[in-house]
Amino acid sequence: DTRSSTLGNDTIYALSSGSGRAGIAVVRVSGPGCLDVYRGLCPTKAPPKPRYAGVRTLFEPGFAHVPDANIVDSDSLILYFPGPRTVTGEDVLELHVHGGSATVKAVLSAIAKCSSPAKIRYAEPGEFTRRAFLNGRLDLAQVESLGDTLAAETEQQRRAAVRGNSGVLGKTYEVWREQLLLARGEIEALIDFSEDQHFDESPAELLTNVKAMVEQILHSIQLHKLGSQRSELLRHGVRIALLGPPNVGKSSLMNQIVGREASIVSSEAGTTRDVVEASLDIRGYLCSFADTAGIRTKSVSNPDETPASTIGAIEEEGIRRARRKALDSDVVIVLASVEPTKGGGHRISYDTETLQLAAGAQQCLVAVNKSDVVSPETLERLIQDFKSSALESTPGLSGKEPLTISCKAAASPPTPGLVDPGGVHGLTEKLVESFSHLTSLPGDMQHLLGVTERQVQLLSETEKHLQDFLTAAQTGGPDGEADVVLAAEHLRLAAAQLAAITGRGESGDVEEVLGVIFEKFCVGK
Ligand code: GDP
Ligand code: ZN
Repeated sequence: DTRSSTLGNDTIYALSSGSGRAGIAVVRVSGPGCLDVYRGLCPTKAPPKPRYAGVRTLFEPGFAHVPDANIVDSDSLILYFPGPRTVTGEDVLELHVHGGSATVKAVLSAIAKCSSPAKIRYAEPGEFTRRAFLNGRLDLAQVESLGDTLAAETEQQRRAAVRGNSGVLGKTYEVWREQLLLARGEIEALIDFSEDQHFDESPAELLTNVKAMVEQILHSIQLHKLGSQRSELLRHGVRIALLGPPNVGKSSLMNQIVGREASIVSSEAGTTRDVVEASLDIRGYLCSFADTAGIRTKSVSNPDETPASTIGAIEEEGIRRARRKALDSDVVIVLASVEPTKGGGHRISYDTETLQLAAGAQQCLVAVNKSDVVSPETLERLIQDFKSSALESTPGLSGKEPLTISCKAAASPPTPGLVDPGGVHGLTEKLVESFSHLTSLPGDMQHLLGVTERQVQLLSETEKHLQDFLTAAQTGGPDGEADVVLAAEHLRLAAAQLAAITGRGESGDVEEVLGVIFEKFCVGK
């Protein structure tokens, strides 16, 4: 077996619990030397019963007889799991020791001093998981989702990653692969023995059935790709662009959302004319928020504004970027605001182009800021005007209900009994709603959130070969038999791509795939 030859017989160990101050640290040992390690640390007591915890004092190897000296840790909890039904598929020893970094260091160096016929060494990053894969405890799709689980920083990332852990995806790809290989075998038998007439189904029937099966798999591949697209949004974050003319309150709104509704993951400062980006966690969704330079075109509905011709080059560059931002965002928030007019009245300042950009986005919200500057009655009238003039005339936005907000009210000290002054909280709720629309999948397809980018690439390859199969299997060609040979070959190629997803089957480059997947892992996993 090529797999066990790549295993090596080393016994590996590492700190498996998280870093930082904690009460307990877990050191994991895996390999044939586990009991040697145990005996090195605890020579006076028998190991605990398999899978039961035992309390032990750990000694410096070779010094257990010296009273009180050289105790490495006391009251450690020890668990011994004999292979092969363990996390790695090998013998595993778990030492739950006191959490201080000095204790951990002493335990690790004591393990290194234990003697065993099997080499004992510190684990490489991801080596425990690699062994689990090589011993058939996990398939590659599960290994990947484990990597995602460990990397998850937001609640929604965690949920997407956990979907892939179950092994359902890997099993699905295995079923497809077996179906394809079986069909290929049948087609080849048909090519070789079709004169014999001993077939249950006619060659035409067989091809028709295989084609139907291939169509079914092609349809499922589409769903799997959709699942990956959705979880991509969870993994890499939903991109939100905040658009509107200058001074409507974009920066104020962003500050309100960041300040009260989200926690910043990272942020990038920029000038007022540039796009300012921040990575946020809004209710468990990772988002990147871009506050753009105000879009100000000739169509700005403000007669008092500077004419477009005086817009400076720097500002134009900012506007160009804002436009691009809008185009590659998942959610666009268009902001308008209530502004005084020269005549002593009020109007809503908005930008027509911004509205058009928003209408083209997958999800969009329209909000009118500075609701505090007019009476509720005036606000109501202005909003009705805004709806019938601006929104009705923009395709895709007619019927849209704008939210009214006041960043100023939201920023003022809280008044007892007043819920959500300024309405920024409500706007955030709407945002979260749009995130859940963007990332939703039917209930019975939640596991498809576990489909990774690597898997999508292989699924696309599979798809190509299956399309080629369908082309080759088309009847009526001048050279019918050669087409069937080609069709069978495409089934084989498609099956090989599926094998690469789970790392099972005859795919050749398992080691290469392992390298790519495991480089993301940390030591101890
Ligand atoms: P931006 O250019 O769109 O980013 O707008 P800013 O956030 O820089 O705000 C422009 C001006 O409007 C600033 O003077 C803000 O203090 C003011 N402003 C923002 N939000 C409100 C609000 O809700 N009510 C009032 N009255 N003023 C606001
Ligand atoms: Zn701004």
